[in-house]
Amino acid sequence: MTPLPGHPQLAWRDDELWLEDVRLAALAQAYGTPLFAYSKASMLAALSAYQRGLAGRKATICYAMKANSSLAVLQVFAQAGCGFDIVSGGELERVLRAGADPARVIFSGVGKTRAEMRRALEVGIGCFNVESESELDVLDEVARACGRVAPVSIRVNPNVDAKTHPYISTGLKGNKFGIAHERALHAYRHAAGLRGLSVVGIDCHIGSQITDTAPYLDAMDRVLDLVQAIEAAGIPLKHIDFGGGLGIDYRGDTPPAADALWAQLLARLDARGYGDRHLMIEPGRSLVGNAGVCLTEVLYLKPGEQKNFCIVDAAMNDLPRPAMYQAWHGIVPLHRDAQRVPQRYDVVGPVCESGDWIGQDRELAVRPGELLAVLSAGAYCMSMASNYNSRGRAAEVLVDGAEATLIRARESIEDQLRSERLIG
Ligand SMILES: *Cc1c(COP(=O)(O)O)cnc(C)c1O
Repeated sequence: MTPLPGHPQLAWRDDELWLEDVRLAALAQAYGTPLFAYSKASMLAALSAYQRGLAGRKATICYAMKANSSLAVLQVFAQAGCGFDIVSGGELERVLRAGADPARVIFSGVGKTRAEMRRALEVGIGCFNVESESELDVLDEVARACGRVAPVSIRVNPNVDAKTHPYISTGLKGNKFGIAHERALHAYRHAAGLRGLSVVGIDCHIGSQITDTAPYLDAMDRVLDLVQAIEAAGIPLKHIDFGGGLGIDYRGDTPPAADALWAQLLARLDARGYGDRHLMIEPGRSLVGNAGVCLTEVLYLKPGEQKNFCIVDAAMNDLPRPAMYQAWHGIVPLHRDAQRVPQRYDVVGPVCESGDWIGQDRELAVRPGELLAVLSAGAYCMSMASNYNSRGRAAEVLVDGAEATLIRARESIEDQLRSERLIG
């Protein structure tokens, strides 16, 4: 048994690829392709790194569910004691269905609607992470109108560079997220004066796929400076939320382990005298990214003058990250054959867009009808999937030891057409 580097639950047994104790080719046969398969052990291992890192502290780990919002995935985290970070009313309904405790749910996002606020207040949400001064006023109004007091934290923008892709960097001055560091104290004073709000915390989130400790330490220092100023102004803060954003190994990336990162952050927090506060974190990608693979069948091999194409049955609607961020995903055959000579291919889907590629210039020894696994597909794949080209969304399976459970059936054409109406 040879585990794949960075994917401890994924291993070669003889020449077949297995996820935990399930042979992936057997899953593809049973459920068809494209198919997402997730390892429960891998999710729980990723979570336990955070739990170890925060052991002995007052802390809540809020899974940022936009990374993968499938109900059964949410259940895994809810049953393991996680809270959730949500960014829409739809996500709120999903976590409630999955059995989450609403008091452990925090509501982030720059554009919450009044209806979303009302519903979150009704169910007793743990905290609103407010992202603008006008949102404070609207939330105050909505809360008073329904006779409630909204627990709030203000998302501050610490203006640190997370050194990640510009589309997933969120803590810089030019980003739409949070309230500028310089305005934060003013915003807190304003919030503290509103009767419909109860100030409970502060939060930041500086970006995603962060592979370095330094931006976290910088952000922590900036946030603690603010905590000091806000409390000096007579506004006590119960919790400090440091967001998510820890990266995963897609292609030899070397992010710090969650427990190692937190050892450093807690040392800094203790040194500054804030180690006894209630800590919150919002990890998404690092809990699920490397727990998932997407299985796909090779449809055609198409040799060309400049490039050879390996056309597969998964596409940008299933795996949007390459098209959106030029992201890199490992691609490996489910059956390896050392006798064959690999060829160089662009692995592409059937969607009518030149941006519909899954991997470029990959050495593969495959034939039509054979199966591939696209790696690191647990985060920001299924949750971003669309029906572009009227393609039904893929099925999903949760693997737990030797057991595989279908957690989402393949979307049928009836599912796709259900809400549409002909004009007569
Ligand atoms: C997306 C998001 C996260 C999670 O980011 P990851 O990179 O997936 O860990 C956390 N907090 C907020 C507010 C987010 O928008």
